[in-house]
Amino acid sequence: MLISFEGIDGSGKSTQARLLADALAARGQQVRRVREPGGADLPERVRTLLLDPALAIADRAELLLFSAARAQLVEEVIRPALASGETVIADRFYDSTTAYQGGGRGLADEAWLDAFHGFVTGGLAPARTYCIDVPLAVASRRRAGEQADRMEASGDAFYQRVRMAYLALAARQPKRIVVLDGTLSPEALHEQILADLDAFA
Ligand code: C5P
Repeated sequence: MLISFEGIDGSGKSTQARLLADALAARGQQVRRVREPGGADLPERVRTLLLDPALAIADRAELLLFSAARAQLVEEVIRPALASGETVIADRFYDSTTAYQGGGRGLADEAWLDAFHGFVTGGLAPARTYCIDVPLAVASRRRAGEQADRMEASGDAFYQRVRMAYLALAARQPKRIVVLDGTLSPEALHEQILADLDAFA
């Protein structure tokens, strides 16, 4: 099963992805955790390009680079892991592109993006997606002190569009995407996610 975590930077999604992976592994499941962009050699190299604050990247090129990294990750890591019965936990998947490049950058043709994601992944969709929602002020407080990458130089208006795009997407796909309150404690959030997954699986 493929499970993805989504949310703006500072939402706490990576912490939750890790907690869930640890909990499922403790139950004896084979778990593979991957991050996007990244998770394999080529995607990690693409990540370095994408996050480089010194590099100017056109919006459409950005969308294609994130997607190229994803296509490789699916082919090289995710599909083989799923085929051998592992649970794959993805820290970001194609909903990030819908939210960041679609909503944030304004390349927002939903129907096109949906079809394009299908092309990029060869039709692989997450079974369940946890979208961790936090107000911008909370997220930027959590990010304070971290070095800003190229995307994080985009400012509050950008992040507000990304957040709204996530919420709109979740409203469009309520069966798959679960929106959670990211202002809760990590432990409380983790309990909610485990309970949801147990009810779902
Ligand atoms: O989640 P993580 O911090 O690893 O993401 C790396 C960076 O890439 C973040 O700044 C995130 O906002 C950005 N990103 C993006 N578009 C995507 C996926 C990630 O701008 N589709």
